Amino acid sequence: MPTINQITKRTCPECGERTGVPILYGMPGPAMQLLADRGLVALGGCVVMPAQPNRACTSCEHTWIGGVRSVAMRAIGADTK
Ligand SMILES: [Zn+2]
Repeated sequence: MPTINQITKRTCPECGERTGVPILYGMPGPAMQLLADRGLVALGGCVVMPAQPNRACTSCEHTWIGGVRSVAMRAIGADTK
């Protein structure tokens, strides 16, 4: 569970705003819900599939795969562009 201080907003590749937040998958607990209410994370639901986006833009609702996971996705041959 990330704390608020560990959450870094990312630049959205779609609209260019620095409003990209991590998408958290799994059953949201109270802490996850609190972060989501503050717009610090997006909740992706509890069904986890391969190649799901892990970033969501709170401005335009674009979702994408970023960060460490995109390296992993490229390693298994999934193009994330
Ligand atoms: Zn955006």
